[in-house]
Amino acid sequence: DGGRAWSGELLAQRKDGRQIPVLVSYTPLFDDEGDHIATIGVSTDISDRRRSAEMGARLAAIVESSSDAIFSQDLSGVVTTWNGGAAALYGHTEAESIGRNLRELIPAEHVDQLRLLLEDAGRGAGGARRVEIETVGRDTDGRDLHVSLSTSYIRDASGQVVAASAIARDVTEQAELRLRVEEDRRRLADAQASAGLGCFEIDLDTRRVTRSDELCRILGVEQGGTRAFGLDHVHPEDRARVAQSLEQALDGQVGVEWTNRIVRPDGTVRWVLSRTSRLGGPRSRTLAGTMLDITERHRIELALAHQVTHDRLTGLPNRTSLIESLRSLLSGPAANRRRVALAFVDLDEFKVVNDTLGHAAGDQVLCAVAHRLTTGLRETDIVVRVSGDEFVLVRADVDSLDEAEELATEAERVLGPPVTVGDRQFQLSASIGVTLSDPSDTSEVLLRDADAAMYQAKDDGRARIIVFDARARARAQRRLTLEAGLRQAVARDELHLEFQPILDLSTGTAAGFESLLRWDHPTLGPVSPEEFIPIAESSGMILPIGDWVLDHALAQLARWRSDPRFRSDVWLAVNLSAAQLGQPHLVDRVARVIVDADLPPELIHLEITESVLMDRVEDAVSTIEALRALGVRISIDDFGTGSSSLSYLRRLPIDILKIDRSFVVGLGGGGDDTSIVGAITSLAHSLGLHIVAEGIERPDQLAPLLELGCTFGQGFLWSRPLRPDAALAWLVARDGTRPDSR
Ligand code: C2E
Ligand code: CA
Ligand code: CA
Repeated sequence: DGGRAWSGELLAQRKDGRQIPVLVSYTPLFDDEGDHIATIGVSTDISDRRRSAEMGARLAAIVESSSDAIFSQDLSGVVTTWNGGAAALYGHTEAESIGRNLRELIPAEHVDQLRLLLEDAGRGAGGARRVEIETVGRDTDGRDLHVSLSTSYIRDASGQVVAASAIARDVTEQAELRLRVEEDRRRLADAQASAGLGCFEIDLDTRRVTRSDELCRILGVEQGGTRAFGLDHVHPEDRARVAQSLEQALDGQVGVEWTNRIVRPDGTVRWVLSRTSRLGGPRSRTLAGTMLDITERHRIELALAHQVTHDRLTGLPNRTSLIESLRSLLSGPAANRRRVALAFVDLDEFKVVNDTLGHAAGDQVLCAVAHRLTTGLRETDIVVRVSGDEFVLVRADVDSLDEAEELATEAERVLGPPVTVGDRQFQLSASIGVTLSDPSDTSEVLLRDADAAMYQAKDDGRARIIVFDARARARAQRRLTLEAGLRQAVARDELHLEFQPILDLSTGTAAGFESLLRWDHPTLGPVSPEEFIPIAESSGMILPIGDWVLDHALAQLARWRSDPRFRSDVWLAVNLSAAQLGQPHLVDRVARVIVDADLPPELIHLEITESVLMDRVEDAVSTIEALRALGVRISIDDFGTGSSSLSYLRRLPIDILKIDRSFVVGLGGGGDDTSIVGAITSLAHSLGLHIVAEGIERPDQLAPLLELGCTFGQGFLWSRPLRPDAALAWLVARDGTRPDSR
């Protein structure tokens, strides 16, 4: 083609089938005549060159696609490479940046890194070093820019450093996150410090423990992270408990909490509250926990507990603490339970001290007593002030009643010398009840027994010791059994009524019946009302039982009255107890029972013992008046046994006076009880009251009563209390044998 040379790239097919790129140039050769004689062809394998060009393109693409900023500068600081990531990070496009000085584009701190790198290289120290650092700078908008920067050299073919390149990654977010975490951690540490909350982590596999600063402060040791795990900081007495709690925490799903004492290196003891739980799965042997110094709180709690369990005046333990001590002394298996002696000490005539010298002096005496008892007895004895002038002494591990009594004797001796208050001296004495515990005894039983014995000592004339012995114990035991049994007596149908005739002494006929309560205890057999009524009264059971008596007695009268042989003027006396009289609904209830049984109210006599009436005259009067307004009659029972002044009788709205059996017993045989009974009957007559003499057993008792003008009588002379059928039979027989029935 006109003799020109040609060159171009072609693919050459090699013998092995591979195609390779070749650069081919063809040059025609001409002779002198200008004739083409040959063509020289030169083929060069350019596959290497081609590859590096492709690689360059690929690298450029990678560089371009990277979200990291990638840029380079030559030795004079002029930018030679600038990718999209750099544009995004530093806010300058590639077009703006190439050819400009790097200092105009990126924060000085970043440029400095490249400069330092190049300076190193200039000093020949560079070698193949790459630097990776994190650096902060303000970008053009003025915001903090955290960048992780890695720099390296670019060398030419001869190995000469000709440029530096950098890859910068925006780590602002991570850095801020890290700062925030750091901040949180510091705040947590501050909070823990101000809350006094220490933290620890125990790895039981490596047996190492990590402790927070606050924890170290609590323990009073050098601040410091990790050390070997141990319990030497725990108070020796608490170590076992702490070890056990840690064991529990390791076993359990939930956290474990406990308190214990620690001993600081300087010897001070502090109380701490620890919470610990397992970190990680069930196989984990790592525990994490907190520790709080609760010494102050504990001190206050102790003080409060002391206040609750101690008497303010004397500083002695009080009843609450006594019960607590007894409970722990009396606990454990019955077989090897220790026996305990308990003495109830009540000062005699202490009221006199208070009344004559004032309470301040009284307090002084009490403190003196407390002091003597605490210092004068054995150190292990427990001395308690239970109330006013009552103290309780407890001695553990006592084997016999004699030893128990010894405790009381010692107390008596300690209190013997006179007590000086101001310029006065007092001779103290005490009534002391002592008891010795049985394996089955509770603290309540012990206290009750000693208390009962103390009252016995008072009754016997004070200034003495009474030992609660086996007989008293059996009595108390029986009382307990009865009290428990009474609660079920009504429901189990163990009660029934008997009826004792009351005779009109002038005619010898039955005037009425007194209903008397009977209880057949399932194991103890018949129990006398004289025994169980007081128990029913003190336990409150008298109310349901009294209701039962009212219902059944009146129902019985109604049943009798439906029999034509039963005289319609025969009345029925029912006993009421003090508690019943105090019941607000008593009057309504009596009214309802009378209506329900359809009875003439005047046939119902309610017997109220004299002592009850005299104890609460004011209350009683209004109730009795309301009862009488229903039409029922009121008897004063056991008259003469109470401390009634006869003048009260005038104020009481009553109908009948029952002379107590104790006076009747003395009648006949020339006893002087005739005069007492005479005084009572003449008083009754002057007040217009009927008289019933109780407990007439012999004819010689009857004669004086008739002489004194006694209207009615009741007693074994005629009949014992009878079952309803027998009572009816008795009445019918009696009415049939009139009139010589006396
Ligand atoms: P009380 O009301 O003084 O009852 C009379 C007691 O004397 C009865 O005893 C009776 O059996 C007894 N007695 C009657 N005649 C003679 C006699 O000639 N010689 C002797 N030695 N005793 C005689 P009881 O039944 O044992 O009752 C005792 C007390 O129990 C009663 O004394 C009464 O206070 C109380 N009581 C009985 N039943 C009731 C009741 O339903 N309610 C209440 N609150 N108390 C009752
Ligand atoms: Ca009675
Ligand atoms: Ca009586």
